[in-house]
Amino acid sequence: MVKLKVQDVKFSYASVPILKDVCIELASSEVLGVVGPNGAGKSTLIRCIDRILMPQEGCILLDDLDIKKLRLMELAKKMGYIPQSTSQVFPATVFDTVLMGRRPHIGWKSSDVDTEKVLETLKLMDIEDLAMRDINELSGGQQQKVFIACALTQEPEVLLLDEPTSNLDIRHQLEVLDIIRKIVNERGISAIMAIHDLNLAARYTDRIIIMNGGTIFAAGEPFSVLTTENIEQAYGVEVEVNVHGGKPYIVPIRPVGKK
Ligand code: ADP
Ligand code: MG
Repeated sequence: MVKLKVQDVKFSYASVPILKDVCIELASSEVLGVVGPNGAGKSTLIRCIDRILMPQEGCILLDDLDIKKLRLMELAKKMGYIPQSTSQVFPATVFDTVLMGRRPHIGWKSSDVDTEKVLETLKLMDIEDLAMRDINELSGGQQQKVFIACALTQEPEVLLLDEPTSNLDIRHQLEVLDIIRKIVNERGISAIMAIHDLNLAARYTDRIIIMNGGTIFAAGEPFSVLTTENIEQAYGVEVEVNVHGGKPYIVPIRPVGKK
């Protein structure tokens, strides 16, 4: 079943066109990886899907309903967004930050059920011991886990993740992506994840799109998308594509044109 459809979306900042006719379909229980060079438009696309930005043309349908027609609280119940990490964080405990994720469900007054959901999510992310710490005192990786917990506690149907592993060491990268994969599978939700690491994209997503210059340069299953030709054209890098664990495994060789 198609959960989310991005139809012919065009978006410009002022008069600079950034997204040019972007079309995407996302099924339930699917993780879609969005890769592509810096400035390709990945974050802009994710912000359009979360309605932080309004495309000038085209539309985004959630369960066949145009998201422009949903009330913001309705949208917040269905869509969970985890931004690319920021250094400025409002001072609050980890517990309260994650409880904020329940806001679309509860208004301002939380109940035992909400407390229970927060504790459950802290446990799932393995950050229960941080519950009473101020979020500003945590490492970048710990903060990232808190933001993911915040989105999960919202119990969204679609999870939007903008480089969720960018601040994490390799152990935490695997832990976080394992959790995201598990939640998508168990709850039957969908996820769109911008991610720089092509090997993690290959390992954890069902389908991948390569964005380049605001368009979708290639889309499909990891093996059909992560080819030497596509990567060379999109990134200007010569690579070798091997196979590891039944998935493509990319070894960067050199920038195109360099010895
Ligand atoms: P990515 O996430 O793929 O690195 P972005 O979506 O962040 O790319 O950016 C796409 C393009 O939009 C870049 O050229 C960037 O400079 C531009 N851009 C991003 N945010 C803004 C903004 N607030 N105002 C103007 N231009 C922006
Ligand atoms: Mg980005």
